[in-house]
Amino acid sequence: MRIGVPKEIKVHEYRVGLTPMGVRELVAQGHEVLVQSNAGSAIGYDDEAYRQSGAQLVADAEAVFREAEMIVKVKEPQLNECGWLSEDQLLFTYLHLAADRPQTDALLASGCTAIAYETVEDRHGGLPLLAPMSEVAGRMAVQAGAHCLEKEQGGRGVLLCGVPGVSPGRVVIVGGGVVGSQAARVAQGMGAQVTILDKSIPRLRELDDLFGGRVGTLYSTGENIRQQVAQADLVIGAVLVPGARAPKLVTREMLALMPRGAALVDVAIDQGGCFETSHPTTHADPIFEVDGIVHYCVANMPGAVARTSTLALTNATLPYIEALAGLGWRDALRRVPGLAPGLNVHAGQLYCAGVADAFGLEL
Ligand code: NAD
Repeated sequence: MRIGVPKEIKVHEYRVGLTPMGVRELVAQGHEVLVQSNAGSAIGYDDEAYRQSGAQLVADAEAVFREAEMIVKVKEPQLNECGWLSEDQLLFTYLHLAADRPQTDALLASGCTAIAYETVEDRHGGLPLLAPMSEVAGRMAVQAGAHCLEKEQGGRGVLLCGVPGVSPGRVVIVGGGVVGSQAARVAQGMGAQVTILDKSIPRLRELDDLFGGRVGTLYSTGENIRQQVAQADLVIGAVLVPGARAPKLVTREMLALMPRGAALVDVAIDQGGCFETSHPTTHADPIFEVDGIVHYCVANMPGAVARTSTLALTNATLPYIEALAGLGWRDALRRVPGLAPGLNVHAGQLYCAGVADAFGLEL
């Protein structure tokens, strides 16, 4: 199959759909890979690295879109890119269609077949192509929070790990899924005192086992959150209620209980945020203050560490790309467990119930 990898064009998006290592694997399996010039140069993968891996470098995006049978990307295609897609093409990327009617209409109009990373499932109903970005965001949340606690950023001037003779900082994590457990791992590893709150008792059990008691676990109720937040230097928001907006678990009134200069990192901001005072920010201007509390609410945290994120994402996507290219999408959907729910659009029809519900469209 001829696979195309265009350069990402969203602002500050430096990730790329395939690394040179991925290209090498696909070429060894007999596929052709077209890579747009400079697609990976911002994260250290220059054109020469792709060429040496067997890719054909193509100067412009339109040629990649028009000549490839399968397009592999990171972010959803922009409207001009959707205009280059046609009936016999396969698109494999993050789509998030339920939040984007213009893109949904454009993909339906193109006639292409679009498989979304975020709706591919594993054998246990988990989301294997979302998990790597949650792992990145969770680990990064502690790094971002530690920065927010510095005086320069308006923070209270606390070093999370403490020093001999001085207590470490207190980190409270609301939501103990992928983001929450990865944040706990980094915070605990740097020596902070960590407590995770979650609504799921089985998950709290798993976390207790995982951390061998070195991280506190607490059932998530309004009162427990209030008490924990009141003593926290850093609160990380990491809840997810699938398919719904995040519940506002830390209210504005609770901020008054916190020490001035404490920090909130709302990783769940891409689902609306789980703190009442959150609003989405960007890497260009990530931090704001409400009632003396420093907030960090960047909606695409993994973009800041684009090289690590690209490697983590492509490790997870490559086996699916190999199956789609090797078997063709129809056979791959039948034979690869969990790939079928990835199908969102085919021949002008929607195949994802969540997207159809969001817009009142027919499946
Ligand atoms: P997950 O499903 O693995 O974990 C979510 C956890 O929240 C679950 O353990 C669930 O039991 C818990 N939860 C639900 N309601 C709760 C409540 N009331 N109190 C406490 N816990 C509750 O999800 P995840 O992969 O960890 O993702 C968490 C959030 O982070 C999602 O909104 C995701 O989209 C977001 N995210 C954001 C970025 C970013 O760049 N900002 C990157 C990756 C993920």
